[in-house]
Amino acid sequence: MYQYKEVSPHLYVLSLDNHVEIVEALTAFCKEVNILAGEIRGIGAISEATFRFLDPATKQYVDKTFTEQMEITNLTGNVSGRPDDPTLPYLHIHITASRRDYTCVGGHLLSARINGACELVVEDFEDAWLGRRKDEETGLNLYKF
Ligand code: FE
Repeated sequence: MYQYKEVSPHLYVLSLDNHVEIVEALTAFCKEVNILAGEIRGIGAISEATFRFLDPATKQYVDKTFTEQMEITNLTGNVSGRPDDPTLPYLHIHITASRRDYTCVGGHLLSARINGACELVVEDFEDAWLGRRKDEETGLNLYKF
């Protein structure tokens, strides 16, 4: 699903295998090396992805799937403990992807399937613990330190 190298203490370079789903692979990696607080950044290429938009007025999520070849021009996210189980990683990832005509689409990343490559850096904040809790005003799982 992936290969990785710890390039300096608690700093990992990852190469995900072709055709894997990015969120699934990153979650598996965080479980394997036990990252519960950290930061993710990366680039790559995908052929199918579902992004999410939250309408703050209605607190309703609007999801949209794109089935086309795209470059990941930026993938940025973080890792914290899950609100319902702080011993498991919770990934929050946003993405911008460029299309064949060089326009970009993006949003909160629900899933994306690699078609080409995906190269990432994951920084583990080590023993720092970052929790989350449901926020009533926004409807979001916000950091709760
Ligand atoms: Fe988000």
